[in-house]
Amino acid sequence: MKRLDKDEALSLYRNAPLGELCERAQEARFAHVPGQRVSYQIDRNVNYTNVCLSGCKFCNFHCRPDEPEKANTLTFEDYLPKIAELRALGGDQLLLQGGLHPRYGIDFYETLFRRLKEVDPDLKLNALGPPEIAHIARLSRMTYREVLVRLRDAGLDTLPGAGAEILADRVRRFLSPAKPSAQQWLDVMREAHALGMSTTATMVYGHIETLAERIDHLLALRALQDDRPAGAPGFRAFICWPMQLTVTALARMAAEGRLPEGISLPGEPRRWLPDEEFLRTIAIARLVLDNVDHIQASWLTVGLPTGLRALSAGADDMGSIMIEENVVSSAGSRHTLDEMPGQTGHDGLRGQDEGLRGNDYGAGCSEDNPDAGAHTVGKGSLTDPAGAHSSLADPAGAHSSLADPAGARNLRAAIISAGFTPWLRDQQYNAR
Ligand code: SF4
Repeated sequence: MKRLDKDEALSLYRNAPLGELCERAQEARFAHVPGQRVSYQIDRNVNYTNVCLSGCKFCNFHCRPDEPEKANTLTFEDYLPKIAELRALGGDQLLLQGGLHPRYGIDFYETLFRRLKEVDPDLKLNALGPPEIAHIARLSRMTYREVLVRLRDAGLDTLPGAGAEILADRVRRFLSPAKPSAQQWLDVMREAHALGMSTTATMVYGHIETLAERIDHLLALRALQDDRPAGAPGFRAFICWPMQLTVTALARMAAEGRLPEGISLPGEPRRWLPDEEFLRTIAIARLVLDNVDHIQASWLTVGLPTGLRALSAGADDMGSIMIEENVVSSAGSRHTLDEMPGQTGHDGLRGQDEGLRGNDYGAGCSEDNPDAGAHTVGKGSLTDPAGAHSSLADPAGAHSSLADPAGARNLRAAIISAGFTPWLRDQQYNAR
């Protein structure tokens, strides 16, 4: 398949009929991942601190260092029941995410990772991201490579692609001026790839960026992936989701007419309904990222029905059952694994049955079927059993249905309902 250049990618993204775009993306998907296999994993997202210097305008999760009444950092004892619960659910990995804490340099993370591995040597740590690595390097006066080597030796297994948002400094200077630049994000990932670390790449779209900046983002990831050493895994997967803007500073600024000249929300006039935009973005990512094996459907932000439709738009992975999540939920995402068919029926997918066909791709993302992803929200779930999202102010949270592996069962049932075969994997896409 011929590699797309920027003009071709942008033209396809803007102009191709959705069904045609998805059909092309499915061809690429089956070239990368033959057969009906759709992977997923069981891991636990743990937010180790909400204290952050960055103050990104889209983030409701963090608090400033001078807000002690809101600040929270987990104690080591807080991790122990979380690990036990993860293990009870069949998971083997912690996704550790937090903020850019003004005092947490290399020693803090080294100690934490070592102690976690002492408690559970087989526990996988998928932790931090390029912004944290760059922040630790600055605090501890080290190079990115030195930080990554020290953390790897302390127990870091894989590096998530967090904090990429849109890799355009025009966007980053406004949204997250204290966060590492686009080039720094790429430089950290380049070092990780040179060390043979397995990473992921992300994109958060649907805010002030233009469509051309989204394509540039994908092209920057592709170029970096091309440069990885022979045999290095580099980016194992790409994950994108729409920014959750509810009650964020960015949304308030836009509503109050306080955006500066040259910045608008959205970055260019809305072209598509949200579900179509998600499917188109998944599809164009599958086509542009011809050197990345897996495309993940981020159901947490778009809802499970739309996440399943992405399996007909180039995605081959459903991500995690998300035992605990605080960051995007604090910005307005309210999706759970209850938004799916029941244990025995197809109710939640009615209207999609015609569209989700596995190899018979295309129909699942037809413009004729814009409502196929209507959400059916149940009461309570594995991620949010009390119906209210817990936060770092409540680290014990309400995540108490942990003896009940309904999340994994539901996700498997949903994948089967969509015509695919569920396949439990680890972070490196090996079978578990
Ligand atoms: S998105 Fe991350 S870096 Fe930005 S303010 Fe929130 S926690 Fe800090």
